[in-house]
Amino acid sequence: MSRELEGQIALVTGAGQGIGRAIAVALSQQGAQLAISDVNAPQLEETARLLDSPPLITIVDVSQRAEVADWVDTVMQHFGRIDILVNNAGIFPRHPFMEMSEDDWDRVLDVNLKGAFLCARYVAPYMSTAAGGCIINLTSSAAFEGTLRGVHYASSKAGLLGLTRALALELAPYHITVNAVAPGLTDTAQPRYGLTEEQIASRAQTIPLGRIGRPDEVGGLVAWLCGPHASYITGQTFHINGGAYRG
Ligand code: NAD
Repeated sequence: MSRELEGQIALVTGAGQGIGRAIAVALSQQGAQLAISDVNAPQLEETARLLDSPPLITIVDVSQRAEVADWVDTVMQHFGRIDILVNNAGIFPRHPFMEMSEDDWDRVLDVNLKGAFLCARYVAPYMSTAAGGCIINLTSSAAFEGTLRGVHYASSKAGLLGLTRALALELAPYHITVNAVAPGLTDTAQPRYGLTEEQIASRAQTIPLGRIGRPDEVGGLVAWLCGPHASYITGQTFHINGGAYRG
């Protein structure tokens, strides 16, 4: 198998489980060297064991500016360059709108939207002085369809679409591509925070391909978008949802 990301340095946030872990594995299988971060140390260690070469592991809350800045500095000291950034870290605590507090709103926006801004803000200057780079933002079909008990979540994910498009324009002169990946219901812990197994099974029946997605399917798409075949793609959103949303 060709390893199209050989020698590339890739940062993945929220890599301790689920889609972030699968993205780290997919990038590693394509030859990239990984710098993985999360707020959950034991889970991050578990992800590290699945990668082809030992990653740089750092505990980072992406909503905290100083932690993100220190992480990017550490990666540069360790690897000397950054080629790929995947803004994957995200939370979806369910809150009915009529009960949603300002703190509920702020926390989701801080992690899901500001976190991606901070990571891109600290990484892009290093990409701009090198041969360019690739930034992928994990949005969601909730940005397009809305989602129950997730006004904050859908808003944060819709915000990532604006971030993706505007950043793609500003970073194009530096040969940095910026794209968004919008999964539908995917088999990780996140949907289980708010849906029963019966609700997930019933949602699966409404999906044209007849099942919910697998994290490795999202990982494969992200790895492809970071590779040479996607070099002329920027400012776009890629839906991966079994046909559930055709935007
Ligand atoms: P998950 O909850 O299984 O994993 C999220 C990871 O992010 C966890 O390891 C968690 O510790 C980490 N994290 C949480 N807060 C953080 C913070 N402040 N800083 C750094 N890391 C933090 O979720 P997932 O299903 O793997 O989702 C990954 C991404 O894909 C998220 O952005 C999510 O919104 C998006 N997404 C998921 C689905 C789905 O159905 N699973 C659908 C659409 C979009």
